[in-house]
Amino acid sequence: MPKDFHGLWALVPAYLAAHLALDWVSFIHEVPPLNITPWNPPAGLMMGMLIVVGLRAVPLAWLGLMAADLMVRDLPVPLWMTVAANGLLAAGYGGAAWVLCRRLGLDHQLSRLRDIVLLLVGAAMTPLVVGTGYIALHTLIGLFPWSDFGGALLRYWVGEVIGITVLTPVVLVALRGTVPHASWRGASWKGVAELAAYGLLIGLTLWLDFGPLASAQYEHFYLLFLPAVAVAVRHGLAGAALASAATQAGLIVAIQVTGVETARTTHFQLLMLTLAVTALLLGAVVSERRRVEAAIRERQSDLARASRLTEAGEMAAALAHELNQPLAAAMSYARAARKIAKMEEASPRLSEILDKTVAQAERADRVIRSLRDFMRKGRSDRAPLSVGGLIADCLALAAPLAGQHSVSIQSEVAPSLPAVSGDAVQLQQVILNLVRNAAEAMDAPDPRRRRIVVFAHPAAEAGFVALGVRDSGPGLSGVVERNLFAPFVTTKATGMGLGLSIARSIVEGHGGTLTSERLPHGETVFRFTIPIHGAEADSDDA
Ligand code: ADP
Repeated sequence: MPKDFHGLWALVPAYLAAHLALDWVSFIHEVPPLNITPWNPPAGLMMGMLIVVGLRAVPLAWLGLMAADLMVRDLPVPLWMTVAANGLLAAGYGGAAWVLCRRLGLDHQLSRLRDIVLLLVGAAMTPLVVGTGYIALHTLIGLFPWSDFGGALLRYWVGEVIGITVLTPVVLVALRGTVPHASWRGASWKGVAELAAYGLLIGLTLWLDFGPLASAQYEHFYLLFLPAVAVAVRHGLAGAALASAATQAGLIVAIQVTGVETARTTHFQLLMLTLAVTALLLGAVVSERRRVEAAIRERQSDLARASRLTEAGEMAAALAHELNQPLAAAMSYARAARKIAKMEEASPRLSEILDKTVAQAERADRVIRSLRDFMRKGRSDRAPLSVGGLIADCLALAAPLAGQHSVSIQSEVAPSLPAVSGDAVQLQQVILNLVRNAAEAMDAPDPRRRRIVVFAHPAAEAGFVALGVRDSGPGLSGVVERNLFAPFVTTKATGMGLGLSIARSIVEGHGGTLTSERLPHGETVFRFTIPIHGAEADSDDA
């Protein structure tokens, strides 16, 4: 139940007006005595409203149906029958919306492919069940013979299904407030031109099918798939929903203008249904894919943040290490000076100052010690990890690097590797650091040989898997190679020289080792080992 609907009351006039307007516009090719039309968009509006608002909107749905029947449809049945039949429709659709949302978990934001599939299944099933009761009621009071039951039900079903399939997604997309992943907002001239091109294509196809050149078979209908598919691919679900609605509207106008007979209209509506289902499913897949890409980008920036934090931690550790010695020396000089000052009975002021100096130095020492203890105890969260999955995640995260540096990044994973024991985020960080270094090393202009391979195979050492990164770059420079894993060693103008040192401490924290190797053709390999899950020694107290 959405929180953004404070009360139904604000919705009532807008909903009733929209229901009536849609019913009036689509009241064509009605088949008496029930005046069933080949397209019933009010059903789509009603379903959308019931999905968003919930069961408490059933009376409003009933009111809309009553208003339409009394003001537009004018059925030849007594009023009590209209009241009862519309009660059945409103309750039936309300119940279906409740089952879809509450029992089957339909998200009215239509954020997943699953939601669109559920909506389409609901759109097909609900009119079948509800329509059977609705038409049976009218048959029971003798409006038409039972022999017409099947035909009437089919016509009713087609009109309702197409109404829901085309309009409900538009209603739900419009009510979610934004049009995610679509670029209708802030439309540029390009966007307007694109929109005009789709409209033109829809218009042209309809003209081919209904204009003076049209054959009796309306053989160009399939061309309508082109703009629908193009919009779905470019703009996801929101685009698909709008394109289906625009195509349906164009089709209805064409049918009206040219006076197509009713049987043909139903045939067109079935084709339209196929088009709408195709576009919606495609649009949902495209939207879902974009969402996954956005989630990956988010994870990437999480990782970058984690990496910056670790770098800061490493820097603190390095500083602690570097400051430890001069501080210890300063402390012992201050203690010696204090002793001498006491022995030689120097001024009490000097003794007092030396006491304070020693106390301050001891305090600084305690701060550094506790910092080092903290760094040493920082454990990683171990879990069994699939090596293939780990590398696949890294390749996905490294995809932008491949683009930025014009390199290809591939994986070579030996078959049936056992799971390793490790912290996924930390190990990703190691692999990504190595891949980033490799990509940056290949920035030199030699486009023929820009290849990075992330590999995994059983390690020579029992109980371990070897993973690593191989590149076809220029190799390590001599100075760097000697101090490769020491912090702050870098050849890059903006480098911190911390990446490899962090990578090594993570690998060693897992009980493995990280080494580098130069291959005969100048290639560089960084290789590290990680214990197989279940075979790891307790390395945390190292
Ligand atoms: P940073 O990347 O910040 O400079 P790193 O510790 O990651 O720090 O790397 C240290 C240095 O090692 C780099 O500056 C670079 O000179 C060298 N290096 C690392 N990986 C490679 C590689 N694959 N090929 C050539 N040189 C590399």
